[in-house]
Amino acid sequence: MAKIKMTTPIVEMDGDEMTRVIWQKIKDICILPFVDLKSEYYDLSIQNRDLTEDQVTVDSANATKKYGVAVKCATITPNAARVEEFGLKKMWKSPNGTIRSILDGTVFRSPIIVNGITPLVPSWKKPIVIARHAYGDIYSAVDCVVAKGSKAEIVITNPDGTQTVNLIKDFGASDGIVMGMHNIDISINSFARTCFEYALSEKMDLWFSAKDTISKKYDHRFKDIFREIYENEYKERFIDAGISYFYTLVDDAIARVMKSSGGFIWACKNYDGDVFSDMLATAFGSLAMMTSVLVSPSGYYEYEAAHGTIPRHYHKYLKGEATSTNPIATLFAWTGALRKRGEMDSLDDLVDFADRMEKATIDLVESGYMTGDLAIISTLENKTVLNLDEFLEKVASKL
Ligand code: NAP
Ligand code: MG
Repeated sequence: MAKIKMTTPIVEMDGDEMTRVIWQKIKDICILPFVDLKSEYYDLSIQNRDLTEDQVTVDSANATKKYGVAVKCATITPNAARVEEFGLKKMWKSPNGTIRSILDGTVFRSPIIVNGITPLVPSWKKPIVIARHAYGDIYSAVDCVVAKGSKAEIVITNPDGTQTVNLIKDFGASDGIVMGMHNIDISINSFARTCFEYALSEKMDLWFSAKDTISKKYDHRFKDIFREIYENEYKERFIDAGISYFYTLVDDAIARVMKSSGGFIWACKNYDGDVFSDMLATAFGSLAMMTSVLVSPSGYYEYEAAHGTIPRHYHKYLKGEATSTNPIATLFAWTGALRKRGEMDSLDDLVDFADRMEKATIDLVESGYMTGDLAIISTLENKTVLNLDEFLEKVASKL
């Protein structure tokens, strides 16, 4: 077969540890034999980030703005132990955080569903995609412990210098706590637009939930901004695409989610998204089957697996032992990026390749061939546990 041609490169962000090993094997076994891959390569390994003073991360994000589509390997976010382990110059920031702030993106997390791995909620047949607003609220709040007898107020200094004082609490007889948090319209606007764009690109309904009945100004602002943007910019396109947008109270959203069959995007405020995405990942079965895409309001896409660099498996690999590490989420990051590239450049055979690769992978797991992590949770009767290389070889031969 002639290799599938590409016209524009995708941005390739390599990473660390076991996922770096998976990365190379996916390319060698599943991509390069079939696709004449055009990629602009950035090495985001911890060693190279240290060497380049993290400039490589910034460069890779800027390249994503240039080309529109990126695929990213999991990377180490250094903590004190990692600084020591690698002798780093400093505790570099999370690459995902750096990339997200440059692209002004929202992360959408979506589970890969296969027969035999049943979600804990039996009615869920299709993915529930969660979108978390990753700016503000309690994540950049100021909080304090307050002694009894104190008074806490919010003071707003207006542009003309005048001040507005709002009493929070007179701490008469008891010590207590107080928190001040904020959000900005620019960020809420971007979040809303990104969610509407992604719903259109995936042809999925969009839900948004908040607590506007209690938080009459704060959460209500989110609700109003979503509604205004929807009415003014997206309503007709949603109707044409046959999808819907609806807002509901977060409590009601929970009740509906539990009874739904899935197949929608759920946009959440920052804290809700943090908590509910962990709940959904667990309930859908496995972190190794969770994909993630960062979408910017300007239409840039960066695909990755939701899991980390799997150091425990890497240490076995370094000792020369075969590991049964699950490459599916990383493989789907590649197919997601190639499909998006194909759609943007009108390359039907590249889109078709991505579809077939995903189907081959799912068919393989559903016919009983899987890595150890899935074998533990799969309800299929006959299962064969494969190591990483065997699994990828079998996907390629099925393709
Ligand atoms: P992790 O790498 O996701 O691994 C946690 C455990 O989950 C593994 O030990 C393994 O369990 C299981 N697991 C995850 N992915 C798997 C797969 N594909 N196949 C089989 N099992 C899998 O999380 P972590 O240990 O908390 O973090 C390790 C490093 O990753 C950290 O340095 C962190 O900074 C980084 N990280 C990066 C990203 C990112 O780049 N997006 C995200 C999260 C974490 P068993 O050991 O039981 O087999
Ligand atoms: Mg969380």
